[in-house]
Amino acid sequence: MRVMVTGGAGFIGSALVRYLVLERGYEVLNVDALTYAGNLDSLRAVDGRANYRFLHANICDRPSMERAVAEFGPDRIMHLAAESHVDRSITGAADFIATNIMGTFTLLETARAHWSELDEAAKAAFRFLHVSTDEVYGSLGREGVFTEHTPYDPSSPYSASKASSDHLAKAWQRTYGLPVVVSNCSNNYGPYHFPEKLIPLTILNALAGERLPVYGKGENVRDWLYVEDHACALDLIIERGRPGETYNVGGRNERCNVDVVRAICSVLDQIAPANRPREELIEFVADRPGHDARYAVDASKLENELGWRAQEDFNSGIEKTVRWYLDNDWWWRPLRERYSGERLGLPKTAAKD
Ligand code: NAD
Repeated sequence: MRVMVTGGAGFIGSALVRYLVLERGYEVLNVDALTYAGNLDSLRAVDGRANYRFLHANICDRPSMERAVAEFGPDRIMHLAAESHVDRSITGAADFIATNIMGTFTLLETARAHWSELDEAAKAAFRFLHVSTDEVYGSLGREGVFTEHTPYDPSSPYSASKASSDHLAKAWQRTYGLPVVVSNCSNNYGPYHFPEKLIPLTILNALAGERLPVYGKGENVRDWLYVEDHACALDLIIERGRPGETYNVGGRNERCNVDVVRAICSVLDQIAPANRPREELIEFVADRPGHDARYAVDASKLENELGWRAQEDFNSGIEKTVRWYLDNDWWWRPLRERYSGERLGLPKTAAKD
């Protein structure tokens, strides 16, 4: 099995590459532009393996993508490369439009050209998995869950760009017959997560005794999934999912943000006690503009049709994650020097610059 993964130096992509190379024994080509979010240190476990190679390239660069596909000859393409941070999309959306929309278009066209040249058996077996987010569905009230039939209603430049790319991926299946499957997943957490996102930022700030910023009143609810459970789900979806279908992925682990931060403080206080409870470091700050109130994913299609089950619940996953950060400062210290946790995503008031 030859699998091309885009964005394999990122948070979820690196978990997927480690899983495919080490657990599945697949031949993997990781294509990544190494933006601020890409980190080859996350791939030390596969570095040097005969069934793993890395290509430093941008998915918007059509000639590079065509060469990569022609030389590697993938049976599957798993597309994760994206700009992924909502706050950065609020500060400046250009990279999100370029990578998430134009990059996906470029990759779909490259895949279509490759696929159309395959013999009939290879054509029937080929799959393109477009990896997306539950944020495309917009915001829920107190009740209800996102199903695969929930209408799209994105709020942020990030989720709008992902919604756009989902529509492109589905259109390439309907119009050209390219065997595309789409997955929409809830918020991930776990090892190797860039410390701009809530959970790793909170762990590292709490360890350093720094303030723990929480947006608004901390009431926004996310449905948390351990990243390695997501990697297994993606492998299952591309293996057994039906082309043209969408599969929601979620851990059935809803938590409001302030409870996530409190849970991290409590695990840290137990395993690395400080002189005062870390909860005292919590500080409520101005809310994110357009902040969706609640996400919750109904993953029963994936569970019932493909037999997927998350292995971690939030309590076990968060403890594993905190322990991983405590044991792996070699990975995160260089990143903290580049990005120390300053506030992102407050739109500039004047459009002069
Ligand atoms: P990430 O930001 O950690 O990693 C993105 C990777 O893509 C990085 O390695 C980066 O270098 C690479 N990349 C960015 N632009 C590129 C380009 N133009 N060409 C090639 N490579 C490029 O993101 P993540 O959290 O790992 O998310 C991966 C995918 O999963 C994204 O498509 C995201 O929308 C989706 N997703 C993420 C979450 C989550 O909670 N993180 C949840 C659901 C879905």
